[in-house]
Amino acid sequence: MWRATVLTLYPAMFPGPLGHALAGRALGVAWSCEALDIRAHALDRHRSVDDTPAGGGPGMVLRADVAAAALDSSGGCGPRILMTPRGKPLTQERVRALSRGPGVTLVCGRFEGVDQRLIEKRDLEEVSVGDVVLSGGEAAALLLLDACVRLLPGVMGDATSGDDESFERPLLEHPHYSKPRAFEGLVIPEALTSGDHAAVARWRKRRSLVDTRTRRPDLWAKYVAAATGGVDKPDETE
Ligand code: SAH
Repeated sequence: MWRATVLTLYPAMFPGPLGHALAGRALGVAWSCEALDIRAHALDRHRSVDDTPAGGGPGMVLRADVAAAALDSSGGCGPRILMTPRGKPLTQERVRALSRGPGVTLVCGRFEGVDQRLIEKRDLEEVSVGDVVLSGGEAAALLLLDACVRLLPGVMGDATSGDDESFERPLLEHPHYSKPRAFEGLVIPEALTSGDHAAVARWRKRRSLVDTRTRRPDLWAKYVAAATGGVDKPDETE
């Protein structure tokens, strides 16, 4: 079973949303989630876990000694990751690699962040979930776990539906349509209702290419480089 171990000041936040739907059904079967309270390792009678930043300034910092004690007794497996906006941006590639391993141990920061010496002494991998600042690492940890768990064997209903999605190629996925055929004057693109599988595939490929080029020039540049070795542009009409 794939093991998620989370160190947090708010263990009640887990599994949270991951206790529902696909991830929730797979909990205890394909994966386990253990949330450990960092505060249980506080050293003083006030159970304090944070203190003022060295050098001054606003806010508080999670103490290195308390967080290290929590981590050392966690018994977690897999890479040890600190959720932080200073980290390497999370990618689908990293998520896929994590989901193939034994599990992951996540440390959730709070306040202004965690003492740098924890990161260095416990050799934590620093991971960010985007160029936004959250109030704590818990939402970031839930995001990472959600992305990993859905890739575990047996978790997604249709095992193939993960292969073709946004970022796997790296292209954005095409948009989706369902029922009704006409909605407030908007009709499903003809190719999708034609019954012609080749036409459907062409339409989807084309939208995937066009949408990536217009919405995500950064991904488009990667795709062009990978598809052509950087020589010329892929044909959007193919
Ligand atoms: N002072 C810090 C922000 C601290 S936010 C700075 O400016 O860089 C408090 C905690 O929320 C962090 O310790 C981290 O664990 C979590 N967090 C906030 N934004 C995050 C992000 N984009 N990715 C991952 N974790 C994040």
